Amino acid sequence: MMIRTRLGEAAAAARFLSGLRPFLGRRVDPDTARERLRASMARREQAFALLLRRGVFEREHGPWRALFAWAGIDFDDVRKLLAAHGLEGTLERLHDAGVFLSLEEFKGLRPIERPGFSLPVSAEDFDNPLSARQYEARTGGSSGASRRVMAGLDLLEHECAYHALFYAAHGAADRPLGLWLPAPPGAVGIKNALMRSKLGQRVDAWFSQSRVDDAPFRHRLFADATFRVAGLAGAALPRPSYVPASEAGRIAAWLAEWCARGRAPVFLSTPSAAVRTCAAAEASGLDVAGTLFVLVGEPFTAGKKRAIEAAGCEAATHYAMVEAGMIGLACRNGAAPDDVHLVRDKIATIQKPRTAPGGQSLPALLHTTLLTSTPKLMFNVESGDYGVVEERDCGCGVLPAEFGRHLHTIRSYEKLTSEGMHFMGPDLLTLLEQTLPGRFGGYPTDYQLVEAEREGLPVVRLLVSPSVGDVDDREVVETTLSFLRSRGIGPTLMAEVWENGSTLEVVRAQPHVTGAGKIQPLQREV
Ligand SMILES: [Zn+2]
Repeated sequence: MMIRTRLGEAAAAARFLSGLRPFLGRRVDPDTARERLRASMARREQAFALLLRRGVFEREHGPWRALFAWAGIDFDDVRKLLAAHGLEGTLERLHDAGVFLSLEEFKGLRPIERPGFSLPVSAEDFDNPLSARQYEARTGGSSGASRRVMAGLDLLEHECAYHALFYAAHGAADRPLGLWLPAPPGAVGIKNALMRSKLGQRVDAWFSQSRVDDAPFRHRLFADATFRVAGLAGAALPRPSYVPASEAGRIAAWLAEWCARGRAPVFLSTPSAAVRTCAAAEASGLDVAGTLFVLVGEPFTAGKKRAIEAAGCEAATHYAMVEAGMIGLACRNGAAPDDVHLVRDKIATIQKPRTAPGGQSLPALLHTTLLTSTPKLMFNVESGDYGVVEERDCGCGVLPAEFGRHLHTIRSYEKLTSEGMHFMGPDLLTLLEQTLPGRFGGYPTDYQLVEAEREGLPVVRLLVSPSVGDVDDREVVETTLSFLRSRGIGPTLMAEVWENGSTLEVVRAQPHVTGAGKIQPLQREV
């Protein structure tokens, strides 16, 4: 079995590499990109029906087939629903009939459980049988073990259309470009580097939070081949060089060097990495003004945006899931810092109320894939996030007018599951990114809560970065507890418990950064 899997991987890698040269050779300009997206938008219902027929109903097995069968829905039913209610209306009805997956079910962390139906599944069961399994990558692993996903060049080909329009709208196609994203098998860095090359643009530097040599041998071999083939296709990619999250000063120095030459770069990274870079620039008196940070991977809040703008920089955030690729493209005229245009030709998104671990009802986002090129087949799959969806004419002109549905204020409910703190939900970011920095100084990334255990008793450590300077620990605790008391009955009770049990302690230490270069507001040591 293992041998077969490895052979399958080798064949997939070979397909990827042989397709890479023609892929990089076919350049994309903004006009063709616009046409491609318009056409793709116009046929989204047919695309969905085709994917469902070929990926689910023409197959004998698979969890989706079983779930549709349990719900008593066949392909003809779906066609009738589409004719009567359109795509989103159909997805709503499928959801209400039980055709959806929680994030945990989709990750294979627990069986699919519905009344009278139980099906153990693994993450691989949701692989898209119609997509060419070409490139193996790993997700960030921010919510547990990292998962393998496959992405093909077809998907990158399509996503290049979004990026072509994004760079054109920002006038950013000719600016120097750097990345601070994990090296392969991390997915986001290599995908972006290849797409940028396909757009006929240079990648000037690639910094990686992970060491290239730490990757398993076959990944290094594959990455090496990718760089060679790209070089032969005239798209020389820089090899990733290791810069740990704690050394943002090196990134700031690289940016400042370009800025001094009057060529402010475009820089791809995570929101917290960008904030740390701007903080490092300020601390060493480096001028990085004019840099455009293009960010993915974490909630992008008003606090983080302010920290980046204080350095004279601009930020744009896309919204993506490794299993589905891009879901939203940054709006230039957003209603919130993280406002994106939903790429509805590729992913259909609906919302349903979801009870978060703290008992709060939140408008959860559920995504459905529409193209054969996405690595996973998804029908109403929760992303673990919620947010505000609205139709708005923003006038930013990045995407064609058909792409007028927006998503913003995107937050995770899945990650805030820790006992004793789940009630904080969305308030957690307010505390860490606004209240504490507002009172004691520093940046939103300078504070983090870590739940741990000491001699079997729960303790909550509030990490405060040493860079914040002198603070009175008692005052930090008092500020936190009074914040909790201002947030309703549940948090007030929690504040009492924390106070009486001396649960909360302040620790002067750098917040932990995940392998993917993100800072989670809440960490668990237990
Ligand atoms: Zn817009």
